[in-house]
Amino acid sequence: MTLRVAVAGAAGRMGQAVCAAVEAAGDMTLAGRAGPGLGTAVEEVLDGCDVLVDFTRPDAAVPNARAALGAGRHVVIGTTGFDLEALREIAEKADANAFVAPNFAIGAVLLMRFAAEASKHMAAAEIVEYHHPAKLDAPSGTAKRTAALMDGDVPIHSVRLPGLVADQDVILGDVAQTLTLRHVTTDRTSFMPGVLLAVRRVGELPDRLTVGLERLLWP
Ligand code: NAP
Repeated sequence: MTLRVAVAGAAGRMGQAVCAAVEAAGDMTLAGRAGPGLGTAVEEVLDGCDVLVDFTRPDAAVPNARAALGAGRHVVIGTTGFDLEALREIAEKADANAFVAPNFAIGAVLLMRFAAEASKHMAAAEIVEYHHPAKLDAPSGTAKRTAALMDGDVPIHSVRLPGLVADQDVILGDVAQTLTLRHVTTDRTSFMPGVLLAVRRVGELPDRLTVGLERLLWP
């Protein structure tokens, strides 16, 4: 079966990469591109799709998800910095599923897992996250989730500089030693295998709202 995928934020940096990845996938068709600059509202692309992928802005993600779920369409959200509890309320009353991941890169998800494990054994830790200057939210959703998964109170430092895509260091310290876990992305294609996996799986997930790529990668 061919999955029909529409993209909200299709003209954006991530949206363009998602459109290209969907077009290159043998089991999907690109069913619509929505975005203010394209003159197409999300509501206009819902009829023709099975799954809406949202890479937009923190203030647009929940309204877009409400529209998709209200129309019975599954939604995969990569946008960060929005109110997850507002989405949960909408998703729990819906007839379709929502999947959210603050980071779709496998290396970042592995880093979160290793950081959580390491924090059980090291005295203290801090996170430094590095992104391009156009990123609207700070700290990043990935950094907040990493900190939430780790033991103890973990401060986060945000760096915004040209030339960066999305990197993160977790530095753990203990007596006479430090351990640094580092994830580096060189291109937005790093996120695409995770996005396509979520698109393929969102419809079969047992819960109305699922958060985190790790939920698809290991039990
Ligand atoms: P971007 O280049 O600014 O793209 C955002 C796009 O959303 C723009 O094309 C914008 O259109 C469009 N947009 C704004 N409001 C909209 C609405 N109501 N409906 C539909 N589209 C709308 O940003 P980006 O770098 O692609 O990042 C997008 C989001 O993805 C950010 O929240 C970022 O943090 C997140 N992100 C997540 C991951 C992950 O792995 N989860 C990875 C990278 C980025 P106009 O330009 O016409 O206003």
